[in-house]
Amino acid sequence: MNPFSLPAAPRRFQMYIGGQFTDGASGQLMTRHSPGHGAAVAQWPSGVGEDAQAAIAAAREAFDNGPWPSLSAGARAARLFKVADLIERHAQELGLIECLETGKPITQAIGEIRGAVDVWRFAAGAARVMRGEAYNNLGDRVLAIVLREPIGVVGVITPWNFPFFILAERLPFILAAGCTAVVKPSEATSGSTLKLCALLHAAGIPPGVVNVVTGRGPVVGQPLLDSDRIDMLSVTGSTTTGRKAIEASAGNIKKLGLELGGKNPHIVFADADLDDAADGVAFGMAFNAGQCCVGGSRLVVQRSIAEAFTAKLAQKIRRIRVGDPLDAQTQVGALFDEAHMHKVLGYVQEGVRMGAHVVCGGARTGDHAGYFVQPTLLTNVRPATPLLREEIFGPVLAVVPFDGYEEAITIANDSAFGLAASIWTKDLSQALRATRQVRAGRVWVNTTLDNGPETPLGGMKQSGLGREAGLSGIEEYTEVKTAHIHLQARTHWIA
Ligand code: NAD
Repeated sequence: MNPFSLPAAPRRFQMYIGGQFTDGASGQLMTRHSPGHGAAVAQWPSGVGEDAQAAIAAAREAFDNGPWPSLSAGARAARLFKVADLIERHAQELGLIECLETGKPITQAIGEIRGAVDVWRFAAGAARVMRGEAYNNLGDRVLAIVLREPIGVVGVITPWNFPFFILAERLPFILAAGCTAVVKPSEATSGSTLKLCALLHAAGIPPGVVNVVTGRGPVVGQPLLDSDRIDMLSVTGSTTTGRKAIEASAGNIKKLGLELGGKNPHIVFADADLDDAADGVAFGMAFNAGQCCVGGSRLVVQRSIAEAFTAKLAQKIRRIRVGDPLDAQTQVGALFDEAHMHKVLGYVQEGVRMGAHVVCGGARTGDHAGYFVQPTLLTNVRPATPLLREEIFGPVLAVVPFDGYEEAITIANDSAFGLAASIWTKDLSQALRATRQVRAGRVWVNTTLDNGPETPLGGMKQSGLGREAGLSGIEEYTEVKTAHIHLQARTHWIA
């Protein structure tokens, strides 16, 4: 029997401000329907500007006067390890919340929570590694030291596609650095972030150190972008939201970390292991129903193998199991909502109007209570087609053939985005050359979507600013302060 099922009634969550659970100033609720079933699965407060301001005030107080920033790194790490243990204990419950709100398969949702545990533990350890520098080479009279200090209050805005994991790539690093935070999760998938608040509370994270406000972006998110009492913003979302953060940051010149969209290429050279490449390309385009910022959506394939490879790939893609997110056998669940499903199908239809050929997929599928789309492969796609230029955020892959190495790199780099790229070849020097020449923050060779908290992530070009995770993940949330310390009497300027 499947241990996971739809809830009899929507699960009710509250916001978390200054250590208190609250319905906020409006008293209004938002309801999320499972995109795979159409059933109401969760409710949380529809926050307003007043709630955002209360959360900012709580985070400000906890940073300016609270114990958190001045605790030893060891003491902070101990609390973060406790949070990680609690997340691990609640992995199934958190996974079910994610599955129901996002429409992703339950096995992947639970896997994502377990991955997040690992990131929380890495960040806890990183707290104790953060260090400064000393310059003992400036002459006998001077010693210079470089300190790393927590940057202050961080506003964290997260998207709907990996709500818990993306938060894990940011929040524990923010806390490890000694900062405090106001988190605004996506209005569609806030449940796992709100559940996390109970775990933070239980782990003894002091009141005000983490505050979570829920509601619509322009209503509760924009006040965070605009606030002069927030020192840094970490925004993960579309390039449109990233631009809003850049505009608003002009007020108090706050620092920005932006993780935005992608239009990621798979480059498949003729010498690649084609079975392996076909499997990887299918996985990269369809994982999370293609709603993955680093998922490959352009297949740049050497012309000599293009036809055979496309046929092999299509065979794989047709076998992907699309269906009920609660079924443990499902590989691809539902798209995020009805409007998004129509947008994805609209890109395919527009591509076809411009001459593209659908090799497989291209239509809605499954139970019509949910928003399921067949993984779709298109050839004969014109370079100017939006299919090749815009982030579709669905299980759609467009094929572009190339003749020689230089052309492959030119096509791969012909995008406003620069988030990720995958290279498939057995030739080591070709792989390394391409790794260096592709303009992307993350490159995979003979694999795709691999991840680990040790390695930093982020984008080039319009895909973002800054890096999350790895040791840079904690450094992002610090200010660097230089002190010159004079060790002997100064030579006076005025005699
Ligand atoms: P989105 O930009 O619509 O929303 C992201 C968040 O911003 C949400 O919480 C939303 O409420 C908030 N927001 C919207 N308007 C706002 C405003 N005016 N002020 C403040 N906050 C506002 O993105 P989405 O649809 O939730 O997520 C999908 C996008 O996220 C895709 O473009 C995807 O590539 C990107 N993404 C990037 C990464 C990465 O690491 N680069 C990871 C995941 C998702």
